Amino acid sequence: MKLVTFTENANTRMGILAGNGIIDLSRAAPSLPTEVAAFLNAGEPAMQAAREAADGSPDFDLAAVKLESPVLRPGKILAVGLNYRAHAEESGMEIPSHPIIFTKQNTSINGPYDPVHNPAETKMLDYEGELAFIIGKRCRRVPEDKAAEVIAGYCINNDVSVRNWQLRGTPPQFTMGKSWDTHCPLGPALVTADELDPHNLRLRTLVNGEVRQDTNTSDLIFNCYEILSFLSTAFTLEPGDVVVTGTPSGVGMAMKPPSALAAGDIVRVEIEGLGYIENEIVDEPADTAQF
Ligand code: ZN
Repeated sequence: MKLVTFTENANTRMGILAGNGIIDLSRAAPSLPTEVAAFLNAGEPAMQAAREAADGSPDFDLAAVKLESPVLRPGKILAVGLNYRAHAEESGMEIPSHPIIFTKQNTSINGPYDPVHNPAETKMLDYEGELAFIIGKRCRRVPEDKAAEVIAGYCINNDVSVRNWQLRGTPPQFTMGKSWDTHCPLGPALVTADELDPHNLRLRTLVNGEVRQDTNTSDLIFNCYEILSFLSTAFTLEPGDVVVTGTPSGVGMAMKPPSALAAGDIVRVEIEGLGYIENEIVDEPADTAQF
């Protein structure tokens, strides 16, 4: 099942992607929460009601609605650095012996097809195509062999990075470089975990149609279950929390010469079984200042 968050007639709510249509869960199952994190928190009865609704016919054409991030405001967005061997090598870093974790702020969430801002403070805006997973159950200290049971599903992420803010200073400032507004496009759907094997999916990133990253999630150093077990050793994970699992080789920063994103560029990240997200780079509008 492919769970989506969509906006239609200025109203944002949950739906199910069915071919080229959307089943509106607020019509098909009005008692369900209309927001994905609350829906996941409602547990198996809610999921079962959604599965029954998934047999119905679509309420809208996909083209008639706007898809949003599947989770609008995750409690946490956790990210893994250097989780593909070739990317660690192209970054001049050692292969990590344990997952390298940083966070993206939840205000960086962006829709799967929405513009990504290029701020005036950088000339080193970069992409990172990544597999993301979404927590389905509140959990702590989950062993690797139970991790699959607490993952609701998977989606695609571009871990957009402001390299000069990320890498300046010692130690580097991942938090400030990875969390600019609009820099966490996610989607297009939360594909439930029963639909795929997360560790055998082709992942490609294209900039203006040119393939920059092309790998398979079988090349992850730490797989989703190892990452989840590691994170939950320290803290509780909650429904709707998002974990982005790291990017393969081929980022713009590692090209020779380095290549930065600029206004007008189109970045597309595709993952087998999950579809694609595609975001245009735009100069950050002047009206983002708010105080
Ligand atoms: Zn990343």
